Amino acid sequence: MKRADLIITDISYILTMDENLTEYKNADIVIKEGKIIDIGENKKNEYFGETITGKNKIAIPGLINTHTHAAMTLLRGYGSDNPLKVWLEEYIWPAEGKLVSYEFVKDGTDTACYEMLRNGITTFVDMYFFEDAVANSVKEAGMRAVLCTGILDFPTPGAKTPDEGLKKTEEFIKQYEKDNFIYPAVGPHAPYTCSPETLKKAFDLAEKYDVLYHIHVSETQFEVNDIKERYGNTPVKHLKKVGVLDERVLAAHMVHPTDEEID
Ligand SMILES: [Zn+2]
Repeated sequence: MKRADLIITDISYILTMDENLTEYKNADIVIKEGKIIDIGENKKNEYFGETITGKNKIAIPGLINTHTHAAMTLLRGYGSDNPLKVWLEEYIWPAEGKLVSYEFVKDGTDTACYEMLRNGITTFVDMYFFEDAVANSVKEAGMRAVLCTGILDFPTPGAKTPDEGLKKTEEFIKQYEKDNFIYPAVGPHAPYTCSPETLKKAFDLAEKYDVLYHIHVSETQFEVNDIKERYGNTPVKHLKKVGVLDERVLAAHMVHPTDEEID
């Protein structure tokens, strides 16, 4: 018999992400020092340690939420049922201007982390302000996250100018570059809130540190029309033309791509 910290026995189904996507039925998971060290039928006969039953339960790898503004749990319901533009301009941005601080973001993200863990989410990609507060929430919750400060061309709770947002982003990247749980990224907010110059500067920064480029794209019909009017292209083509569209881009809220762009 070998020592383990935790043995979860008789789990009805275990779905894995190994090379063969192996599935186990009525099997056990063995954990030591925070890591799964063994998995399979009757492993409980090989190990001793704290044991709990997984009967009538399914074990799956942690889910990943690829886009959050986690701290906004504290603004949930505020200005709901409005079109995005009205919701942002008349409700959310003014409220954020008054309320958002390190403490606000920490409290809101603590709440979000609790909700995510309750629902099986162990990793998320967040774009907001005071990402150092988000990082502390993530650490305390024992989760993983890709984190970026939202960069916009107008003043935000995080920065007065896009250059200040870029500077804070670079400092944040340097701070967490080697962390095993926090993956810093660059987060220009959207093609309609960032000039081509800001989009490009953000992209250069992402390339310099080899991190993700996280951006809202083609979120509303308003955005598609607005970008077409200003630049003569759809948001996706606009990003391509500005030179900021490649495999490091993680696009969020992409509701209005063309068929060609989906292909
Ligand atoms: Zn978003």
